[in-house]
Amino acid sequence: MPVSKVQFPFPIDGRAVPVFPKPIPIRWRDAAETKGFHLIARAKDRLHVVLACKICGKPTLKRISVVLGHNPECPHCITARRKAAAATVGAEFVARDPKGDRHYGVYRLACGHTDRRQHHRVEAAASGGHALSCEICLNERHAAEAEAQDWQLIGPSVRKNASYREYEHVCGHRQDVSVANMRSGDVDCAGCGESWTSKPSRLYILSFKLPGLDVIKLGFSSNPEFRMRQVQFDPTNTEGKVQRVVEIETGHRAICVEKALHSHIKAHRPDLIVPPELFRERIRTTSEIYHSHARSYISALLDAVEAGWDPTLHSISTSRTEPS
Ligand SMILES: [Zn+2]
Ligand SMILES: [Zn+2]
Ligand SMILES: [Zn+2]
Repeated sequence: MPVSKVQFPFPIDGRAVPVFPKPIPIRWRDAAETKGFHLIARAKDRLHVVLACKICGKPTLKRISVVLGHNPECPHCITARRKAAAATVGAEFVARDPKGDRHYGVYRLACGHTDRRQHHRVEAAASGGHALSCEICLNERHAAEAEAQDWQLIGPSVRKNASYREYEHVCGHRQDVSVANMRSGDVDCAGCGESWTSKPSRLYILSFKLPGLDVIKLGFSSNPEFRMRQVQFDPTNTEGKVQRVVEIETGHRAICVEKALHSHIKAHRPDLIVPPELFRERIRTTSEIYHSHARSYISALLDAVEAGWDPTLHSISTSRTEPS
């Protein structure tokens, strides 16, 4: 029989569906009723029916074989449940899985990144009251932590250990280091023998050009020139320059002062912060980028540090507690 030209006057599962104008066998109706649905019509062809969910009332198209032989599920109720679960953990269900796996979906996480997730994991996180961790953020954080120590995150560790990653030192030597040791700077390079925490370091201001926007980066490194080159994806585009360097007695001291300065700026002049989406494709860093007109303000902070001001003691706490 040809497909009817007459369509239901309402969308079914988001689509226009043709009616199939034939009587409905009683036992079909009964089967649907016992499984949580009203069978309201036949549709599309002789194999399909329209069910109305007894919980949400929305219509859905099912094969009659599913109604008779299986437990049909209401896709609208499932979607509503997933959306509610996602919302509980600050996330948002965005789309079905592009790879077509019905156990997965695309979610926008609380941090703003979108990622494929198993639905049941999102629901488990929601009912367990824990957050969804973001691989991208985690990687960015590990990269930033390494960068703070003059190392660069390369990728998974050579050894099979989930708490290790492979890193490359400024000297070019690569080795596995545990994430926790890299974070705290407790890492000695087997290539050049350098011990990081005790060697002198520097605070720096770097400048870069983005399309239509000049920015600066405040950070620390024992080698700001190297840092400036390493942080650019394409130096001919971003034209990095070292604008200012302040000597600090040890790397450990430098990381403390640098963190305190960022907190200070965040607390007093959040308007100077450039959102990551404006630079992340051109500068290899996750934060700490400011508008170029912040230079005099930040330079004044560095003057104060040189004159003996300790921002780790007198900065307004912004309680930036990083998960460990
Ligand atoms: Zn439903
Ligand atoms: Zn993220
Ligand atoms: Zn080295």
